[in-house]
Amino acid sequence: MRNLVWHILFCVALAASAWASNKVDAEQVAKQHKASFHWFPVQKTFILAGETDTLKFAIGLPYVNSHGKSVELKQAPEIADGHILLDSADVANLYNAGNAQAAAVAPASSSALAKASSSSVKVAAPAPAKATASVATPKNETAGTREVKTIVIDPGHGGKDTGAQGKNSNEKDIVLAVGKLLKKELEKEGFKVKMTRDKDVFIELGERANLANQWDGDLFISLHCNAIDASPERKKQIKGYHVYVLRAPESEEDKAIARRENKVATLYGEKNAKEELSPLEWFKLEARLEKYKQNSYMFTEQMLKAFDDGKIKRQGGGVGGAGFMVLVGALMPAVLFEIGFISNPEEEAYMITNKAQADIAARISKAVSSYKDAVHNYRETLGR
Ligand SMILES: [Zn+2]
Repeated sequence: MRNLVWHILFCVALAASAWASNKVDAEQVAKQHKASFHWFPVQKTFILAGETDTLKFAIGLPYVNSHGKSVELKQAPEIADGHILLDSADVANLYNAGNAQAAAVAPASSSALAKASSSSVKVAAPAPAKATASVATPKNETAGTREVKTIVIDPGHGGKDTGAQGKNSNEKDIVLAVGKLLKKELEKEGFKVKMTRDKDVFIELGERANLANQWDGDLFISLHCNAIDASPERKKQIKGYHVYVLRAPESEEDKAIARRENKVATLYGEKNAKEELSPLEWFKLEARLEKYKQNSYMFTEQMLKAFDDGKIKRQGGGVGGAGFMVLVGALMPAVLFEIGFISNPEEEAYMITNKAQADIAARISKAVSSYKDAVHNYRETLGR
């Protein structure tokens, strides 16, 4: 009896090693087939761009997009020890499409074993069932999963609410100027663009998200300038841009920035006005945040890339999260962009020039286009 147990264990071990040896490193595959390899860490997708075809994969999804069509894989790509692994049978199928028959017969048995022994990979795959089920018209799809078409620009503050004040300018004017230029840039790229305000008027924070929802936006970008209340020396030190998503804050600084941006709501007696979200409110928001989080980060990643060689540098990591009231009601991926510090003399002087505003608008527009492409690639991988 004991021998039998050992025998079974031995067989399982053999099967496991056979399965392990059946995986190939995606980067090596790219090299062998003279394809370039691109990895998108936020979306967890990767591309093998060859001369004749670009293969698009997503970690955990047993599908690949090849020649514009979604093809089922025997095994979902996975990450192990920092390597992206593909099933060798899948690779053989993809690169010997002409000999599809041979490929289907030979390695199938071993990959069937792989399928049986690695059901966890299947479980980890979040989307395929949903993806095939919702072959609805684009309008019925949720923002974040459908193609990116409508962008909502929200220049912060306005009217009686000047926002932060610099020596020579007000936040509300800088963000409006950038917002208008951004609209033009995005329209050139073919996006439908809506602005929560296109002149110097006051709009409540809650109303901004309501407008964005009415317009059925795909991405909400709230534009702001950062500021600190401190000594002149400190004001000279603190500078840089920051992209914020709606997320429970991890630092006191991020919390303070949200309080400052939320202050307008309490100042002018807005309904449901508050400077900070309570733990219960965060809890209630959780499910909705989850829905748009990945896309908000996808866009944030593109923003960091687009601003990498800009005049205004990242402040710290350049990314933060806090309870911004203006983002709370938006039913779409959303970010709040602090362009730079109006309290910093150097950045203020820069941000008030037409040249700077045009450059900033062009960079945001570039980030939106890259984000649109990333969403499109992701959809193609899912066969939509
Ligand atoms: Zn602001």
